[in-house]
Amino acid sequence: MAISRSEITIDRHALRSNVRRLKEGLGRTQLWAVVKANGYGHGAETVAATALAEGASALCVATIGEGMRLRQAFPDPRILVLSPCSPSEYPLAREGRLDLVAADGPLPEGIPLHLKIDTGMGRWGVGVGEAIVSHRDVVGLMSHLASADIDPEFTELQIARFATVASEYPELICHIANSAALLRFPSARFDAVRPGIALYGLSPFGTDPMEDGLRPVLSWRSRVVQVKQLAPGESTGYQRRYIAADPTWIGIVPVGYADGFCRGLSGSEVLVGGMRRRVLGTISMDSFAVGLDRPVSVGTVVTLIGDGLLAEEHARLLNTITHEIVCGLNPSPTRTRRAVLG
Ligand SMILES: *Cc1c(COP(=O)(O)O)cnc(C)c1O
Repeated sequence: MAISRSEITIDRHALRSNVRRLKEGLGRTQLWAVVKANGYGHGAETVAATALAEGASALCVATIGEGMRLRQAFPDPRILVLSPCSPSEYPLAREGRLDLVAADGPLPEGIPLHLKIDTGMGRWGVGVGEAIVSHRDVVGLMSHLASADIDPEFTELQIARFATVASEYPELICHIANSAALLRFPSARFDAVRPGIALYGLSPFGTDPMEDGLRPVLSWRSRVVQVKQLAPGESTGYQRRYIAADPTWIGIVPVGYADGFCRGLSGSEVLVGGMRRRVLGTISMDSFAVGLDRPVSVGTVVTLIGDGLLAEEHARLLNTITHEIVCGLNPSPTRTRRAVLG
């Protein structure tokens, strides 16, 4: 590889396979692809194009800006902005023919609106039982689940609350399911589902995505740029957090926390030439060290995510979810190269 520090690869075969998997059993329920935050770091346009080609009916984003950018590439599909926006953004939303989520009045004119019901997320939306604003531009009724990944009881309660309201508005498009609910709660399907993380082949449950028939879409690889041996008592990295007890071979990898390889991943495993090796010492802004059982050639591939090394593994060590791992990858071409396969 011409020396680029790292490369992010997006596998469209895997993405297509995930859309097909998520559409299984949906019947007439539409699949709306959630591509906010640049498609969870995967590239919103690439993901949107592939999902639409596989039968997704709409795109969901977080901001007006994300919606406007996608509208340039995709003139036709519904694009729903999930997060609240300010009235100053309404003209732009109208120009981009974006759908907006609304909770209570005053509501904008001339913009398709999805009324949000707070069934238990405790965030944004009108309470169950509160007056639902009637407005001629309302096309949808929606809610969002707080714990579909871990709490079946509360999820069923939220779904039941939503179903009660939804049954009063048969003319509206009703939608509540995220990835976890789509995979585990058939009763959450209604007229459309809004999967994000599962599209990308990442498990909403933090387990191996293969268990749900999903294939990881993103791989992230770098190379060893230097190989050296530490003598006993010598250290590598800031604050000397790793000190060699025995003569120890290490490789230096030109990726750090500014690239999205979090400082908390010290002690995690990466693949060096396909073999699991441990990250040693403090991860720097632009590089880290990996332990080797013997010297390898400079240029040996280091896989940070992919080739069987799951993002879920890093997420677990960081006590977070894979959403945060992939959204945290620095997309700048000044730091990493991107390739799309398939
Ligand atoms: C992000 C988001 C989703 C998708 O959630 P996943 O867990 O990634 O499937 C669905 N609905 C809303 C309102 C969201 O903000």
